[in-house]
Amino acid sequence: MNILLMGLPGAGKGTQSEMIANDYDMIHISTGDIFRKAIKDETPLGLEAKRYTDNGDLVPDDITNGLVKERLAEADVQANGFLLDGYPRTIAQAEALDANLADIDSNLDHVIYIEVDADILKERLSGRIMCSNCGATYHKVYNPPKVSGVCDVCGHTEFHQREDDTPEKVGHRIQLQMDSIRPILEHYEAANLLTKINGDQAIETVYREIRNILGE
Ligand code: ADP
Ligand code: AMP
Repeated sequence: MNILLMGLPGAGKGTQSEMIANDYDMIHISTGDIFRKAIKDETPLGLEAKRYTDNGDLVPDDITNGLVKERLAEADVQANGFLLDGYPRTIAQAEALDANLADIDSNLDHVIYIEVDADILKERLSGRIMCSNCGATYHKVYNPPKVSGVCDVCGHTEFHQREDDTPEKVGHRIQLQMDSIRPILEHYEAANLLTKINGDQAIETVYREIRNILGE
């Protein structure tokens, strides 16, 4: 099964993706995670991407399309199917993805859009923290670690805020992506692939709705 999980920053894509990838054995591909790792490792891709991610802007389509195309061709993705999180974010990326999938004789099964109001997104992003060791994501109030100050996944005790989760950058990212996401939703609606779900519900409730779409 091949799935796109779409939503504005803070909609809960990463949170839901972890659960889906676990239960359905799909390969989770987050372009944001790929860029953050490249930036941390100071690779040429990272140095280039940082110029855009630092300002909350989108990384240019040719760079982003190229790296997704490479990843989709890898054996694990071919064998297990993919869960794309945060891609496509422009109509040009959606068209490139269609062409890439046609090239490798593959297709999308579902496009799920997690819908959340901008005010709630801002509140979520201002409280988002990540484990400094494994990158697991939490929210200080809505989704804290089970044992306070200890990562559920790896047991690490240091957490940090993402550099692009400051109030100014959050506002810019939401506005920018709100504008670019609309034609993409229309694209997948026309292809009869899109299901919208209400993301302003408890994490488990959102996940139950996703499971209903994907099937048990
Ligand atoms: P995205 O990957 O779409 O940017 P995240 O999955 O990182 O979003 O979620 C953003 C923040 O909101 C995180 O701090 C996360 O713990 C929290 N969060 C995710 N889903 C919900 C939800 N349904 N209700 C409340 N908080 C949530
Ligand atoms: P995310 O973790 O999905 O919020 O992404 C973090 C940042 O990475 C974004 O603000 C962009 O700068 C960049 N990014 C992630 N996905 C894409 C994409 N599909 N196209 C362009 N830039 C992206």
